[in-house]
Amino acid sequence: MTTTTELTGAEDVAWDLSDLYDASDDPRLESDIDEADEAASAFRDRYHGKVADLTAAELAEAIEERERIESIVTRVAYFAHLHFATDMADPPRGALVARVTEKGAALDTQLLFFGLEIAELDDEAAEAVLEGPELEHWRHWFRSLRKFRPHLLSEPEEKIVTEKSVSGVSAWGRLYEELLGAVKVDLDGAEISFEEAMAKLYSADRDVRRSAAEAVTSALDPGLRTRTYVFNTILLDKSVDDRLRDYPTWISSRNLRNDTTDEAVQALVDAAVSRYDVVQRYYTLKAKLVGLDQLAYYDRMAPIGEDPSKVSWDEAREIVVSAYADFAPEAGDIAERFFAEQWIDAPVRENKRTGAFCATSVPGVHPYVLMNFTGDRRSILTLAHELGHGLHGSLAQPLGLFNADTPLTTAETASVFGEALTFKRLLVLEEDPHRRLNLLAGRIEDSIATVFRQISMNRFEHAAHNERRDEGELAPERVEELWLDSQKKLFADSVDVDGYGTWWSYIPHFLSTPGYVYAYAYGFLFALAIFRRYELEGDSMVEPYFDVLRSGGSKPPEELARIVGL
Ligand SMILES: [Zn+2]
Repeated sequence: MTTTTELTGAEDVAWDLSDLYDASDDPRLESDIDEADEAASAFRDRYHGKVADLTAAELAEAIEERERIESIVTRVAYFAHLHFATDMADPPRGALVARVTEKGAALDTQLLFFGLEIAELDDEAAEAVLEGPELEHWRHWFRSLRKFRPHLLSEPEEKIVTEKSVSGVSAWGRLYEELLGAVKVDLDGAEISFEEAMAKLYSADRDVRRSAAEAVTSALDPGLRTRTYVFNTILLDKSVDDRLRDYPTWISSRNLRNDTTDEAVQALVDAAVSRYDVVQRYYTLKAKLVGLDQLAYYDRMAPIGEDPSKVSWDEAREIVVSAYADFAPEAGDIAERFFAEQWIDAPVRENKRTGAFCATSVPGVHPYVLMNFTGDRRSILTLAHELGHGLHGSLAQPLGLFNADTPLTTAETASVFGEALTFKRLLVLEEDPHRRLNLLAGRIEDSIATVFRQISMNRFEHAAHNERRDEGELAPERVEELWLDSQKKLFADSVDVDGYGTWWSYIPHFLSTPGYVYAYAYGFLFALAIFRRYELEGDSMVEPYFDVLRSGGSKPPEELARIVGL
């Protein structure tokens, strides 16, 4: 196969998963699954039907054991998913994911009584038992779980929902992931990865951008009907779930899980939508700066001056680690360990998962980072972003799995903060005024992408979920209309979106985590508010910031905001 991959120095930067398990045939995988199985049966025998009678001390002991079981399963699941992510076409890897998913669901069905019985406690009994000092560590976790009380089903019903989800919604999600992973872009007779094609949208040459965009549009065409069907199915599944669980709107369950409210999220959406004019004014100005009457959708990321030069993997490492170290030596040390100890999988590789992620809370083990490094400015900031998650996960890990796990609303705090630190560094390193303008424009565009564009995508989801509920199955053409409508509201006349109609279908969040995208805007604004205080107050903000990260998900967002004086 021909590819046009340029060398970046990241070609051999593969992660070493042996801190989790040696290989997919490591006998410890099976023995851990067996141990979780036995512990789950013993847990059920001991506590089923008895949670209401437990004292605070007994309840604390039970939660610790429940967390220990979950940690074993999560560790196995992380290994399976990480192993799969670097070669999604390898059948044994897919089979391991499937086996672990099935096993996890089987254990969930055994154990879900515990959360249900906690939720069923009446308020008085729950608050009385929470008075016990033994439960101090679990108070927020316990109260968060009880917030789902009005939306829970009976135990036999919950068991059926959980078991059937393996062959239902999670199977559809995986199918979608595999369909996207297999998308290949044909550009001038050469086959390139989706990532590489998207990276060309940052080119200074308009022809390069246009032909890359057209090649992406062509690549998204085959299978569009199938992907639309998968999308429809997931929309339907969610509407059934919301009806059975009595959630008032399509986004309510997500908001509850995000530790926020429908009102707070609506306020965020309204605030962003009411200032779409900022986006429109910026792109109108940009069109002038790049000498066009109007931007096309593929011009949005064009550099304003000359093409910024690419950086090698080693240069990116140096820039990002020193940005973290300048903020606080401890942050630099943690970032450096990801490189030195092979916790990152960096290169673009065939059949590898696209995009980037950090597996943040892997029980008993440090986080892992996956990315597709292409050497451009965006790639450096992505590296900084994922290492921010890595820092967050490393600092919160001592809290244990349940308390370290953050809701989506605060999950992006350290990642966005790390991007801001790294951007400052890039700006200091660049002396040429044209390139500085480029960098600043890039930063504005990233902010538009994270705040306004994610909110416009939330508006698309809002329309799709509601229309699926009111009118039934959506045709591919109708999904396209809803998508373009959301984008036209965002851009008005500042960007021509002709040809952009099927690009909704490469965004995995719509399928894997409905309602996710607004959390980017929420998290970005939250993190930048902290960063602003750091800029004003300097080093005195370092410790409070670390305190926020060390708190993981053990405190609600408002309380975290107070720690940093917001
Ligand atoms: Zn992130």
